Amino acid sequence: MIDTYRHKGLRKKLAQIVAKKGIKSAEVLAAIESIPRHLFIPDNALYKYAYEDKPFPIGAGQTISQPYTVAFQTELLALKPREKVLEIGTGSGYQTAVLLEMGAKVFSIERQKALFDRTKELLPQLGYNTKLFYGDGYKGLPTFAPFDKIIVTAGAPYIPEDLLTQLKIGGVLVIPVDEGDSQRMKKITKLASNKFETKDLSLFRFVPLLKEKGRD
Ligand code: SAH
Repeated sequence: MIDTYRHKGLRKKLAQIVAKKGIKSAEVLAAIESIPRHLFIPDNALYKYAYEDKPFPIGAGQTISQPYTVAFQTELLALKPREKVLEIGTGSGYQTAVLLEMGAKVFSIERQKALFDRTKELLPQLGYNTKLFYGDGYKGLPTFAPFDKIIVTAGAPYIPEDLLTQLKIGGVLVIPVDEGDSQRMKKITKLASNKFETKDLSLFRFVPLLKEKGRD
């Protein structure tokens, strides 16, 4: 688990690349600049590519999201310090670390046992303490609801009703929803218990949000 000045220099450049692509939030860019992304990629052979703005395999058929995508979704959440955030799809834990760096209180769900186990060990080693759950993201976390913000980091075939229910009034759900072979990023604001405002944003490519827990 080694971080070096070279890695620090590379992620400063990565933050600049992400900024050039349109991310304005100083807090999001600072998080990208400070998080050692290479340590979230399990295959050491890929370390040298970790600061390219690309997704990479993390095992169990899943990927660590592209930094620009992580930044785009995080910026849309418009986080305020200490807000309670539910993340669906912990994966490598990189997005989780970005949310924590932004001062959020994070609850994150992962359905692949192997990834859940690895990230549960990794995050505390890097100084990130948060609540991780092995389960089905479609159902959210009713026990800990309501949430100020909810972020889904896999492509959803539809918007899960339970997630809308678990959002505070005034809260925001950021979710990529299937549209052919890519997904439309949506920002959904809960205006009242049964009233939502949806903004359709650009297209992205995510691994699918799967039903039920993984069986590995
Ligand atoms: N935020 C992660 C993205 C990982 S890819 C990162 O940056 O590393 C999406 C993740 O969603 C995968 O780890 C996948 O296993 C997980 N996933 C897919 N369907 C899910 C579900 N129904 N509930 C919870 N997690 C799910």
